[in-house]
Amino acid sequence: MKIIMLGAPGAGKGTQADILAKKLDIPTISTGNILRAAVKAGTPVGLKAKSFMDAGKLVPDDVIIGILAEALQGPECANGYILDGVPRTIPQAEAMEAQGVDIDYALDLEVPDEAIVERMSGRRVCPACGATYHIVNNPPAKEGVCDKCGADLIIRADDAPETVKDRLRTYHEQTEPLIAFYCGRGKLKTVENQPTIEGNTAEIFKALGI
Ligand code: AMP
Repeated sequence: MKIIMLGAPGAGKGTQADILAKKLDIPTISTGNILRAAVKAGTPVGLKAKSFMDAGKLVPDDVIIGILAEALQGPECANGYILDGVPRTIPQAEAMEAQGVDIDYALDLEVPDEAIVERMSGRRVCPACGATYHIVNNPPAKEGVCDKCGADLIIRADDAPETVKDRLRTYHEQTEPLIAFYCGRGKLKTVENQPTIEGNTAEIFKALGI
Protein backbone atom coordinates (compact mmCIF):
# COMPACT_ATOMS: atom_id res chain seq x y z
CA MET A 1 0.00 0.00 0.00
CA LYS A 2 1.30 3.46 -0.93
CA ILE A 3 -0.30 6.30 1.00
CA ILE A 4 0.20 10.05 1.03
CA MET A 5 -0.67 11.91 4.24
CA LEU A 6 -2.20 15.29 3.40
CA GLY A 7 -3.15 17.96 5.90
CA ALA A 8 -1.90 21.13 7.56
CA PRO A 9 1.30 21.14 9.62
CA GLY A 10 0.28 19.82 13.04
CA ALA A 11 -2.78 17.96 11.72
CA GLY A 12 -1.34 14.72 13.10
CA LYS A 13 0.17 13.34 9.89
CA GLY A 14 3.34 12.13 11.60
CA THR A 15 1.53 10.51 14.53
CA GLN A 16 -1.02 8.75 12.33
CA ALA A 17 1.63 7.80 9.74
CA ASP A 18 3.59 5.98 12.46
CA ILE A 19 0.47 4.10 13.62
CA LEU A 20 -0.41 3.16 10.04
CA ALA A 21 3.17 2.11 9.30
CA LYS A 22 3.10 -0.33 12.22
CA LYS A 23 -0.31 -1.69 11.25
CA LEU A 24 0.65 -2.19 7.60
CA ASP A 25 4.32 -3.07 8.27
CA ILE A 26 5.65 -0.52 5.80
CA PRO A 27 7.99 2.44 6.41
CA THR A 28 7.12 6.11 6.79
CA ILE A 29 9.07 8.53 4.64
CA SER A 30 9.01 12.00 6.22
CA THR A 31 10.76 14.70 4.21
CA GLY A 32 10.65 16.92 7.33
CA ASN A 33 12.62 14.31 9.31
CA ILE A 34 15.08 13.77 6.44
CA LEU A 35 15.62 17.53 6.17
CA ARG A 36 16.06 18.01 9.93
CA ALA A 37 18.66 15.23 9.94
CA ALA A 38 20.43 16.92 7.00
CA VAL A 39 20.44 20.28 8.81
CA LYS A 40 21.85 18.63 11.94
CA ALA A 41 24.56 16.85 9.95
CA GLY A 42 25.41 20.05 8.03
CA THR A 43 25.14 18.38 4.60
CA PRO A 44 24.79 20.53 1.42
CA VAL A 45 21.04 19.76 1.36
CA GLY A 46 20.78 20.75 5.03
CA LEU A 47 22.61 24.03 4.45
CA LYS A 48 20.28 24.85 1.56
CA ALA A 49 17.12 23.89 3.48
CA LYS A 50 17.77 25.51 6.86
CA SER A 51 16.77 29.11 6.17
CA PHE A 52 13.51 28.05 4.50
CA MET A 53 12.62 25.73 7.36
CA ASP A 54 13.43 28.27 10.07
CA ALA A 55 11.14 30.78 8.34
CA GLY A 56 8.26 28.30 8.02
CA LYS A 57 8.61 28.36 4.22
CA LEU A 58 8.74 25.41 1.85
CA VAL A 59 12.11 24.10 0.75
CA PRO A 60 12.48 24.39 -3.07
CA ASP A 61 10.81 21.62 -5.08
CA ASP A 62 14.02 20.42 -6.76
CA VAL A 63 15.61 19.67 -3.37
CA ILE A 64 12.55 17.74 -2.21
CA ILE A 65 12.16 15.79 -5.45
CA GLY A 66 15.81 14.71 -5.17
CA ILE A 67 15.63 13.51 -1.56
CA LEU A 68 12.33 11.72 -2.14
CA ALA A 69 13.59 9.86 -5.21
CA GLU A 70 16.61 8.70 -3.18
CA ALA A 71 14.50 7.63 -0.18
CA LEU A 72 12.06 5.61 -2.29
CA GLN A 73 14.90 3.57 -3.77
CA GLY A 74 15.55 1.90 -0.40
CA PRO A 75 14.73 -1.84 -0.31
CA GLU A 76 12.44 -1.26 2.70
CA CYS A 77 10.07 0.64 0.37
CA ALA A 78 9.55 -2.35 -1.94
CA ASN A 79 6.20 -3.35 -0.35
CA GLY A 80 4.81 0.16 -0.01
CA TYR A 81 5.26 3.24 2.16
CA ILE A 82 3.57 6.15 3.78
CA LEU A 83 4.61 9.61 2.67
CA ASP A 84 4.41 12.14 5.50
CA GLY A 85 4.75 15.76 4.43
CA VAL A 86 5.37 15.14 0.76
CA PRO A 87 4.17 16.18 -1.80
CA ARG A 88 3.58 19.70 -0.48
CA THR A 89 3.05 21.41 -3.87
CA ILE A 90 1.44 20.55 -7.21
CA PRO A 91 4.87 20.52 -8.97
CA GLN A 92 6.11 17.96 -6.41
CA ALA A 93 3.04 15.77 -7.07
CA GLU A 94 3.56 16.09 -10.82
CA ALA A 95 7.24 15.22 -10.50
CA MET A 96 6.32 12.11 -8.50
CA GLU A 97 3.91 11.03 -11.21
CA ALA A 98 6.58 11.64 -13.85
CA GLN A 99 8.93 9.38 -11.85
CA GLY A 100 6.29 6.62 -11.90
CA VAL A 101 5.30 6.87 -8.22
CA ASP A 102 1.80 5.37 -8.26
CA ILE A 103 0.00 5.87 -4.97
CA ASP A 104 -3.15 4.11 -3.75
CA TYR A 105 -4.59 6.78 -1.47
CA ALA A 106 -4.10 10.41 -0.48
CA LEU A 107 -5.43 10.69 3.05
CA ASP A 108 -6.51 14.21 3.97
CA LEU A 109 -6.63 14.96 7.71
CA GLU A 110 -9.00 17.92 8.04
CA VAL A 111 -8.24 20.01 11.14
CA PRO A 112 -9.41 23.63 11.68
CA ASP A 113 -6.64 26.23 11.92
CA GLU A 114 -7.49 27.12 15.55
CA ALA A 115 -7.02 23.50 16.62
CA ILE A 116 -3.69 23.39 14.75
CA VAL A 117 -2.32 26.39 16.64
CA GLU A 118 -3.36 24.83 19.96
CA ARG A 119 -1.80 21.48 19.07
CA MET A 120 1.50 22.85 17.88
CA SER A 121 2.05 24.83 21.05
CA GLY A 122 2.11 21.52 22.94
CA ARG A 123 4.16 19.52 20.47
CA ARG A 124 7.50 18.06 21.57
CA VAL A 125 9.82 16.12 19.30
CA CYS A 126 12.80 13.85 19.72
CA PRO A 127 15.87 15.32 18.00
CA ALA A 128 17.49 11.86 17.88
CA CYS A 129 14.81 9.57 16.40
CA GLY A 130 12.09 11.97 15.17
CA ALA A 131 9.31 10.64 17.44
CA THR A 132 6.54 13.17 18.13
CA TYR A 133 4.64 13.82 21.36
CA HIS A 134 2.08 16.28 22.74
CA ILE A 135 2.25 17.41 26.35
CA VAL A 136 -1.51 16.78 26.83
CA ASN A 137 -2.75 14.48 24.05
CA ASN A 138 0.22 12.14 23.70
CA PRO A 139 2.73 12.65 26.53
CA PRO A 140 5.85 10.51 26.90
CA ALA A 141 5.98 8.14 29.92
CA LYS A 142 8.64 10.38 31.54
CA GLU A 143 8.24 14.12 31.04
CA GLY A 144 10.68 15.53 28.49
CA VAL A 145 12.22 12.17 27.59
CA CYS A 146 11.67 10.12 24.41
CA ASP A 147 9.95 6.76 25.06
CA LYS A 148 11.65 5.19 22.06
CA CYS A 149 15.28 6.20 22.47
CA GLY A 150 15.66 8.08 25.78
CA ALA A 151 16.87 11.39 24.27
CA ASP A 152 15.70 14.74 25.72
CA LEU A 153 12.68 16.11 23.86
CA ILE A 154 12.75 19.58 22.31
CA ILE A 155 10.30 22.16 20.94
CA ARG A 156 10.81 22.52 17.19
CA ALA A 157 12.04 26.02 16.30
CA ASP A 158 9.35 26.27 13.62
CA ASP A 159 6.58 25.53 16.17
CA ALA A 160 6.91 29.09 17.55
CA PRO A 161 3.44 30.75 17.30
CA GLU A 162 4.41 33.33 14.64
CA THR A 163 6.08 30.69 12.50
CA VAL A 164 3.06 28.41 12.88
CA LYS A 165 0.89 31.16 11.35
CA ASP A 166 3.31 31.45 8.40
CA ARG A 167 3.31 27.69 7.94
CA LEU A 168 -0.50 27.62 7.92
CA ARG A 169 -0.56 30.39 5.30
CA THR A 170 1.94 28.43 3.20
CA TYR A 171 -0.21 25.31 3.62
CA HIS A 172 -3.39 27.02 2.39
CA GLU A 173 -1.63 28.64 -0.57
CA GLN A 174 0.61 25.83 -1.79
CA THR A 175 -0.42 22.47 -0.30
CA GLU A 176 -4.21 22.60 -0.03
CA PRO A 177 -4.62 22.54 -3.86
CA LEU A 178 -3.34 18.93 -3.69
CA ILE A 179 -6.72 17.92 -2.22
CA ALA A 180 -8.43 18.74 -5.53
CA PHE A 181 -5.48 17.23 -7.44
CA TYR A 182 -5.89 13.80 -5.81
CA CYS A 183 -9.68 14.03 -5.75
CA GLY A 184 -9.53 14.43 -9.53
CA ARG A 185 -7.51 11.20 -9.71
CA GLY A 186 -10.01 9.29 -7.56
CA LYS A 187 -7.42 8.76 -4.79
CA LEU A 188 -8.69 11.09 -2.06
CA LYS A 189 -9.91 9.87 1.35
CA THR A 190 -10.94 12.58 3.80
CA VAL A 191 -10.97 12.20 7.59
CA GLU A 192 -12.61 14.87 9.74
CA ASN A 193 -10.76 15.78 12.93
CA GLN A 194 -11.75 13.70 15.98
CA PRO A 195 -11.19 14.68 19.63
CA THR A 196 -8.57 11.98 20.27
CA ILE A 197 -5.64 10.35 18.47
CA GLU A 198 -7.42 6.97 18.77
CA GLY A 199 -10.58 8.47 17.27
CA ASN A 200 -8.65 9.75 14.27
CA THR A 201 -6.91 6.39 13.85
CA ALA A 202 -10.27 4.58 13.84
CA GLU A 203 -11.61 6.95 11.15
CA ILE A 204 -8.46 6.47 9.06
CA PHE A 205 -8.66 2.67 9.24
CA LYS A 206 -12.31 2.89 8.25
CA ALA A 207 -11.53 5.20 5.31
CA LEU A 208 -8.80 2.84 4.07
CA GLY A 209 -10.88 -0.30 4.69
CA ILE A 210 -8.21 -1.88 6.95
P1 AMP B 1 7.35 18.91 8.53
O1 AMP B 1 8.12 18.17 9.57
O2 AMP B 1 6.71 17.98 7.51
O3 AMP B 1 6.35 19.88 9.11
O4 AMP B 1 8.42 19.78 7.71
C1 AMP B 1 9.18 20.79 8.34
C2 AMP B 1 9.69 21.77 7.33
O5 AMP B 1 10.50 21.10 6.35
C3 AMP B 1 8.60 22.46 6.50
O6 AMP B 1 8.07 23.59 7.15
C4 AMP B 1 9.37 22.82 5.24
O7 AMP B 1 10.21 23.94 5.46
C5 AMP B 1 10.27 21.61 5.05
N1 AMP B 1 9.62 20.55 4.25
C6 AMP B 1 9.30 19.29 4.61
N2 AMP B 1 8.73 18.59 3.62
C7 AMP B 1 8.68 19.46 2.56
C8 AMP B 1 8.19 19.36 1.23
N3 AMP B 1 7.63 18.23 0.76
N4 AMP B 1 8.30 20.45 0.43
C9 AMP B 1 8.88 21.59 0.87
N5 AMP B 1 9.34 21.76 2.11
C10 AMP B 1 9.27 20.70 2.97
